[in-house]
Amino acid sequence: MDVAFSDGVAFAMFRPFSRPWRLEDVSPDAVNAIIPLSLLEAMRNLDTPIDDGLAELAGEMVAKRLGLSTTVASQIERYRQQAERSGTIPLDEAVSVFRLVSRRQDAALVFADAGRRAARYAARLGSGLYRGLVRASPRPIRRRLGIRAAARVAGRVFWAEMRPNGALAEVTVRENLASLTGVAGLGCGFYGAAFAELMRVLSGFEGAMLHERCRAQGDPACAWRATTVEGYE
Ligand SMILES: [Zn+2]
Repeated sequence: MDVAFSDGVAFAMFRPFSRPWRLEDVSPDAVNAIIPLSLLEAMRNLDTPIDDGLAELAGEMVAKRLGLSTTVASQIERYRQQAERSGTIPLDEAVSVFRLVSRRQDAALVFADAGRRAARYAARLGSGLYRGLVRASPRPIRRRLGIRAAARVAGRVFWAEMRPNGALAEVTVRENLASLTGVAGLGCGFYGAAFAELMRVLSGFEGAMLHERCRAQGDPACAWRATTVEGYE
């Protein structure tokens, strides 16, 4: 544990993972259970009817919604247990969940919601004390440490390479579930939402991730760049 002092604030630099993530750490046979868990939860969330007093009339329609089925409920439970153990699931199973979402009319909404959920789960993989100290620190330091923490999580869970870019960051992903499922472009919404949320939760970033290069357009890798909004220089 390294301890540094800045502006009277002590930072306990716990390292959530034993060493920096490296590209060769990616195991293409397995996917962190957080990802299918988030995809199915987002699907269930969007299939849950808003209580508008028409619940009885909607009963039959509701029963047909996949997100509310017992199959989805039991899969969510299974993935949750796996995720709690930081477990993985086989790649082909994750691909089939990703494909299931991609075929929905509201796929873009599900991917965006799922990306944010996955990022929040993934952010909890690090030390809670570390996150608390980062939150309590002055903004420039919070941002720098936060981006470093986000980069570790992005590599470990999303197979992504996040690098600082000025005060912000850029992200590159070569192989991912969107490209493996054949839905690069649409499925990239999952990753863009996840990276923006990771940076928001861990570094206080309030802005957007611009998807500047995409495998769907023939680029060798998908790349995102964080963009500033007012008040975040
Ligand atoms: Zn893309």
